[in-house]
Amino acid sequence: MISFEMPEKIEHAVVLAETIAENMMRPVSRHFDENEHEIPWDYIEFMHTSLKALGGGGMTPDGEKKEKKKEGPRISFQRMAFQTEVLSWGDVGMWLCTPGGGLGAAAVNAAGTDEQKARFLARHRGEKPVFDAFALTEPHAGSAMPAEVRTTSVKDGEEWVLNGEKIFVTAGNKALVDSEGFVIIWATIDPEAGRAGVRPFVVEAGTPGCKVTKLEHKLGIRASDTVSIVLEDCRIPFENILGSPEVVKKKDKKGFKGAMATFDATRPVVAASALGIARATLEKLKEYLAEHGVEIRYGLPRSRMTNLEREVIDMEVMLRSTWLLTLKAMWQMDEKKPNTLAASMSKVRAGDVVVKITQRAVELLGPLGYSREQLLEKWFRDAKINDLYEGTGQINRLIVARQILEYTRHELS
Ligand SMILES: Cc1cc2nc3c(=O)[nH]c(=O)nc-3n(C[C@H](O)[C@H](O)[C@H](O)COP(=O)(O)OP(=O)(O)OC[C@H]3O[C@@H](n4cnc5c(N)ncnc54)[C@H](O)[C@@H]3O)c2cc1C
Repeated sequence: MISFEMPEKIEHAVVLAETIAENMMRPVSRHFDENEHEIPWDYIEFMHTSLKALGGGGMTPDGEKKEKKKEGPRISFQRMAFQTEVLSWGDVGMWLCTPGGGLGAAAVNAAGTDEQKARFLARHRGEKPVFDAFALTEPHAGSAMPAEVRTTSVKDGEEWVLNGEKIFVTAGNKALVDSEGFVIIWATIDPEAGRAGVRPFVVEAGTPGCKVTKLEHKLGIRASDTVSIVLEDCRIPFENILGSPEVVKKKDKKGFKGAMATFDATRPVVAASALGIARATLEKLKEYLAEHGVEIRYGLPRSRMTNLEREVIDMEVMLRSTWLLTLKAMWQMDEKKPNTLAASMSKVRAGDVVVKITQRAVELLGPLGYSREQLLEKWFRDAKINDLYEGTGQINRLIVARQILEYTRHELS
């Protein structure tokens, strides 16, 4: 049965995350915003050691095998939501620098065989921090992916040869240049087959023919690197195609669908991250209001409240209800229940809520909200990405509509 309370097993990890967020992230949050592309190594090293000690990784439910042995329900994904929310409360750009399993690892978890999970994810528990990334977007298309993938992968003997360009790859530099990580490259094995020909391939750091060509300068999440990657006759071992051997068959939809399940795991993570920024903002807003003698009178009938009180309460309702939806999506992941609907719903709602709350807080606090002396203007800038990556708000709304109306992608696009 679903419970909306924090599972007891998670409490310890969340308290640790709170300590890190308050003491390691907030004090340097502005610094890493203003010094884009400087890497927060202190945070990274600390997280690497802590996560290793806890036996898990960032977006990777590595603790799962251990948990299976313990009594009670599985909670790996719920733990990830709680930790993500708290660390994003600290600093979302730095949270995106957390080693030990990002989007790339989530794809390996969703689509990889047991052998591939062991081979590719073991590096996250090694001596040094390691990163991974996920490259689907190309210069000509983002939302239209994967149907429009132009990067090709051609089998040549016991190898795949990849050619193409990927853009806006989160943590791509850390995965390929700053660590011995890997990037999941989505490429087509059959350009005539559209989506059905698209497969995920693991390209490891140091592979000849795979090069980072550009570091983006961004509006928000500036502590996190976002890069372009070019693949030129990049040869990788045959076994680096994610999934069982049948995914190699052209037009076999199983391999493709397996990999797309990655999003069911990662969209609620993005939602949790967005809600961490929104909570930070709302807390700060209420703190300033209290300092200026404005208390929210929760007990009053709505008609007797000031407009400001009503606005704050509405923000709290948005935040809380979206958090419960996010937890539901993660609980479904833990229970291995279908969660596409809740995952996309939580992502849509959280993307909206964080933008609304951060924008309104900046407006309500006037110069204080706009000044770089406070973090509110930064949170406003950090908010928008949550409505863009992992499927824009519009694309996730389409997914929600298809799920509810039971329409196929051809019937509703
Ligand atoms: C900071 C950052 C990090 C990123 N990280 C990654 C990453 O790690 N890996 C990766 O692969 N990609 C990443 N992306 C890319 C991101 O996923 C894409 O930007 C996103 O999918 C949108 O694609 P696009 O920019 O090409 O916009 P387009 O697809 O061109 O869309 C433009 C607008 O049209 C709307 N639109 C498009 N199609 C429809 C439709 N059918 N119905 C209604 N509206 C529609 C979109 O919602 C959007 O508002 C990142 C982007 C950013 C900015």
